Amino acid sequence: PLNCGIVGLPNVGKSTIFSALTSVEAVAANYPFCTIEPNIGIVPVPDERLDKIVALVKPNSIVPTTMEFVDIAGLVAGASKGEGLGNQFLANIRSTDATLHIVRCFEDAEVIHVAGKVDPLSDIDVINTELLLADLDTVTRRHEKVQKLARNTQDSKIKLEFSAMSKLLETLEAGKPARTADLSDEERPYTRDLHLITMKPTLYVANVDEAGLKDGNAHTAAVEQRAAEEGSQVVRICGALESEIAQLDPAERDEFLKDMGLSEPGLNRLIHAAYRLLGLITYFTAGVQEVRAWTIRQGTKAPGAAGVIHSDFEKGFIRADAYNCEDLFRLGSEQAVKEKGLLRSEGKEYVVKDGDILFFKFNN
Ligand code: GDP
Repeated sequence: PLNCGIVGLPNVGKSTIFSALTSVEAVAANYPFCTIEPNIGIVPVPDERLDKIVALVKPNSIVPTTMEFVDIAGLVAGASKGEGLGNQFLANIRSTDATLHIVRCFEDAEVIHVAGKVDPLSDIDVINTELLLADLDTVTRRHEKVQKLARNTQDSKIKLEFSAMSKLLETLEAGKPARTADLSDEERPYTRDLHLITMKPTLYVANVDEAGLKDGNAHTAAVEQRAAEEGSQVVRICGALESEIAQLDPAERDEFLKDMGLSEPGLNRLIHAAYRLLGLITYFTAGVQEVRAWTIRQGTKAPGAAGVIHSDFEKGFIRADAYNCEDLFRLGSEQAVKEKGLLRSEGKEYVVKDGDILFFKFNN
């Protein structure tokens, strides 16, 4: 599954947010939401649409879809030089698909700040510099190698790789993340194997105190401005509050949120933002045995979506019965959706949409 790495300086609230994310009561008792390893957690993706489908279909079992989060602790200044355990942390980030960058935006004299004061922009720079230097190291080495090859060849592939590496090098040397490099569609594939950290999409998580939750504070304003300049998103959340909310049972939780004037836990917003960051959408299968949510990448065609369930579904794909869950909610039953002629039979070229309810027909 696709995953998000959680990074940030020490003491900004990474473990608080990570444990809140992974301690949320599982919606379906038969599904292994858990912490696989101390720093990896599988988290159900909250989805009101799933609840609404369940209310109409009344299935025997319910399975939400999930996302994986990885707590990458211990990133400090000097990590790119392999100081301390730096290299291991960087290796862990390389294997993730997106980065959640937690930034301390709360004041609390009792929580020590590694730099002595709360300064989110300086914190962001420290982390981003380490990530950038790690990538610069990777790209410099590759660039050198390909430069030699490119000198004595007319091979168009090597030429392309060389121009890709040159652009990356220029971008990183200018202190900009690799994802801002102006790569052509032909050049882009040559960057994949490098697993560059600053190529991954990034979301800033501003960890605020309760007072800063609604309207933010001077720190979040600074982070939001920086993110806007980079074209990144910011989610504002209060780690301490989320950790309290996560420990409540569902009924208490609703009551608590209502008292706080919140419509949902901040973690839900965070999970949804991370899901969007990864370019993911959800489709559903809905039978009386089981109603289940499945994750696919935006733009996936019907056979690929079937393949998420089982590779046999993809190999033997014939057609998919499809309708959107909004039609189900409007009309009240699958039968009514059929009668209105809104249940379509889609073929191999159908691009699955967020909220589709699908039934696959396939050859064994
Ligand atoms: P990490 O080193 O980034 O994993 O940070 P931790 O999650 O261990 O948090 C460091 C300290 O900050 C702990 O004492 C937390 O209780 C505290 N902390 C985390 N989030 C908040 C918050 O939203 N408000 C306040 N006041 N303290 C927080």
